[in-house]
Amino acid sequence: KSHQPSMAPSLHAWDSPSGAPTPMPKRLEGKVAIVTGGARGIGEAIVRLFVKHGAKVVIADIDDAAGEALAAALGPHVGFVRCDVSVEEDVERAVERAVARYGRLDVLCNNAGVLGRQTRAAKSILSFDAGEFDRVLRVNALGAALGMKHAALAMTPRRAGSIISVASVAGVLGGLGPHAYTASKHAIVGLTKNAACELGAHGIRVNCISPFGVATPMLINAWRQGHDASTADDADADIDLDIAVPSDQEVEKMEEVVRGLATLKGATLRPRDIAEAALFLASDDSRYISGHNLVVDGGVTTSRNLIG
Ligand code: NAD
Repeated sequence: KSHQPSMAPSLHAWDSPSGAPTPMPKRLEGKVAIVTGGARGIGEAIVRLFVKHGAKVVIADIDDAAGEALAAALGPHVGFVRCDVSVEEDVERAVERAVARYGRLDVLCNNAGVLGRQTRAAKSILSFDAGEFDRVLRVNALGAALGMKHAALAMTPRRAGSIISVASVAGVLGGLGPHAYTASKHAIVGLTKNAACELGAHGIRVNCISPFGVATPMLINAWRQGHDASTADDADADIDLDIAVPSDQEVEKMEEVVRGLATLKGATLRPRDIAEAALFLASDDSRYISGHNLVVDGGVTTSRNLIG
């Protein structure tokens, strides 16, 4: 009796029946997106993935050199606009520029954020500095709200759009970051729910993503300070904007720490994982999802590993 070959379905939906691979579908074809803080780290990964999926992207960041270099490297479908997300005129201009250059706005990704000072004094509720608290809240929480406002104003006439903010597991649990950072990320989760309630009437979806530790310049800088006795007590210690490029060794070490805490074993959390979540929320694949906080944490917030 002759053995019939298995007709098991392909794992890849984009494989043709003949077995010849067909191009992967582009999930953001024709869409225009703004990514704040898109010059490096998680934002850069989002920009790259959105472009790969056919979107036209405007990078809105305060780092002109890195933002312009990335835009130039990615070609004519990517632009850069200098934008401090805590300044309303900057945010308004970024939206205007995206619409003027590419004709519409479909997606805003509020990714820009700062962690705040990591000194012992700065991290305590007994000694934190009000000015620094205000700075972190202005960038992370007010910045996200301003982005929602001006993106929604541009999206409302077309009765469609997706607004995605990058919150954090520090927006879900306490004890994971400085007080201002935790407060600002909880604010983003709340803002997302409120804005989703209001903007749903205009066909606009509003969601957020809460990553666990991703080995970006932000996290590695914080880790460096925490392990460096000379900066741990220095009130003027390096803040977010003077972050040196992490070495490969530092990235590997950081990834190892995160792997140790995650419940899910065998994988390493990378910027690309957050970008994939943003891609899903930006695309029409998530057309009925709004007001959601998509946690990307390898199971950390569902376990007691962190408080163990
Ligand atoms: P990063 O510091 O490596 O990159 C942040 C980017 O934002 C930089 O390009 C920076 O120039 C830009 N930026 C900073 N302040 C800005 C401002 N006022 N206006 C416009 N741009 C500004 O950080 P990252 O790790 O890539 O973080 C991106 C987002 O992800 C942040 O909101 C952060 O809070 C969040 N997040 C990061 C982690 C992590 O482990 N790395 C975890 C959870 C959430």
